[in-house]
Amino acid sequence: MKIVIVGGGTGGWLCAARIKQKLPEAEVTLIESPNVPQLGVGESVVPPLRLFLQELGFEDKDWMSQTGSIYKLGNMFQNWVYNKGEKHFFTFNYNLSEKYMFSDQVNLDIGPWLNCNHADTRLSDYWLDLYNAGIKSPEELNPDTDCQHYFMENLLSPYKDENYILNPLWSSSLHVNADKLGSFVRDNKALSMGVKHIKSHIKEVVLNENGVEKLITDQGDLSADYYLDCSGLGRLLIKKVSDSWKDYDFIPVKKCWVMPVKYDNPYEEMTNYTQSLAMSAGWRFKVTLYHRYGTGYCFDENFISEQQALDEIIQQVPEKNLIRSPRLLKWDPGHFSEPWTKNVIAIGLSAGFAEPMEANGLYLTISNIDETWRQLKKIHDNEYGVEEASRRYNHKSVILFNDTYEFLYPHYHLTKRTDSEFWKYQQHLNIKNGTEEMVRSHYRSPVNTTQMCGDGYTIYPDYIWAAMAVYYRCNTKNYETKINKNLIEKAVNHFRDFNSKWKSTSAGQETYYDWMKKNRFNGLEHSDLQNQLDI
Ligand SMILES: Cc1cc2nc3c(=O)[nH]c(=O)nc-3n(C[C@H](O)[C@H](O)[C@H](O)COP(=O)(O)OP(=O)(O)OC[C@H]3O[C@@H](n4cnc5c(N)ncnc54)[C@H](O)[C@@H]3O)c2cc1C
Repeated sequence: MKIVIVGGGTGGWLCAARIKQKLPEAEVTLIESPNVPQLGVGESVVPPLRLFLQELGFEDKDWMSQTGSIYKLGNMFQNWVYNKGEKHFFTFNYNLSEKYMFSDQVNLDIGPWLNCNHADTRLSDYWLDLYNAGIKSPEELNPDTDCQHYFMENLLSPYKDENYILNPLWSSSLHVNADKLGSFVRDNKALSMGVKHIKSHIKEVVLNENGVEKLITDQGDLSADYYLDCSGLGRLLIKKVSDSWKDYDFIPVKKCWVMPVKYDNPYEEMTNYTQSLAMSAGWRFKVTLYHRYGTGYCFDENFISEQQALDEIIQQVPEKNLIRSPRLLKWDPGHFSEPWTKNVIAIGLSAGFAEPMEANGLYLTISNIDETWRQLKKIHDNEYGVEEASRRYNHKSVILFNDTYEFLYPHYHLTKRTDSEFWKYQQHLNIKNGTEEMVRSHYRSPVNTTQMCGDGYTIYPDYIWAAMAVYYRCNTKNYETKINKNLIEKAVNHFRDFNSKWKSTSAGQETYYDWMKKNRFNGLEHSDLQNQLDI
């Protein structure tokens, strides 16, 4: 089987290494243009990416120290509801069904989490019931249910020496260095596995009835059985063979000013969580690495000009600390409903992109990559043909892209902010679209269960939809909770004990920066790594 991967960004190199690992007999060539740089943003990721890197054979210690990457425990949203400093940490946690929920969670096997499904009465149902009764407040949700809470609030290490002390099931993830991860995978895995690397610009894509016949490059023609399109937002191949593009109408941000920034004081600035900070006409991400952070203002140009957006973010970022000048990135939010068309398989950004919120980009990329090798293997093993393989790939890709889209846009619609025209307009869309009701339905959807997370169909399990409803002060009185009133006192005790257990466990922990410095960066200061890595 001859495979050509178009694109040498993070997506292309992750794809090359994984495809070669899973289909070792395939002849894999990766082509990237010397004239088109990789996007170089995209640093906050979700737990499956960590697993993906581990399965490629990378030990955290090896690759983190060489790229400046760190662990993240969640994503903090601030000022999205009232613009009065309100915040919520969206974390990686999983619901337990009633049967298991009063056990000591940390000592449980992961089985009980994976067996919890949408029809069960769940731990979050009890918390919601207490909230609806006025016994709990939105601010108590994080400490009552997230083992990561005090570690994030106080910037503490989740490790004792090398022992991870939080819930063992996918409770942490990563901030990765977008400029370095792809080349690290190239140099430390893909090339040594036998992936052929061509640096040449594709000048023309020649089509035939099967899709792509050949690629005409600066250095000659290239042909293959399958073409994996990892060309990013340019969508070099897929846009030529598929007319299945669908816009995401409710994503208001289509432009972003991005910039890498040095720290003044990493003890305070290097957060073990991503920051999503609401702005006057959109939001700003802040993703911290060991030696610097990346930040960007995603804005709606219907409400603010490019210059006004730049002025607004520059007021919040010390200009003296900019490592590079701000860059303006643009995209059209949407996705292909047939990202596998004929012999072209679009992966990650080239298959679609809504926006950076909630670290979804590389997750969708690795999900597409894994589904690609699985389906190509089925074809290779003669289990079924290309038509069935592409149907299955497209089905899964559409579920994932739409599930992500539906999790993102409520963050705008559910606001109660009235301090700018942008936020007032989002409130109007909530009413017009019925977004609050859509969020409620996801809380009991069969797609948003922990099991579906395990099967790679979602990264937004039930509890996180409830957390969204609570943070945005939605009406949750009509949520179907089905709790057993006889157990309510037990539940109250459970949340109290959970909260105090993690508070006291966190109390003795090292600061996050000190632990990272000692255990992942061989004692190197953040500024020394900054000098070594340059970016
Ligand atoms: C503002 C912003 C913030 C983001 N934040 C996050 C985040 O926090 N978390 C996350 O997971 N994702 C995020 N993403 C998405 C993330 O950036 C991408 O998923 C990631 O960078 C992978 O990109 P890629 O490899 O698909 O494409 P790119 O990095 O764009 O690479 C494209 C490749 O195609 C090649 N190419 C293009 N044209 C040609 C040609 N004619 N001939 C030969 N080669 C060609 C280029 O040379 C390049 O190598 C963000 C995206 C944006 C826009």
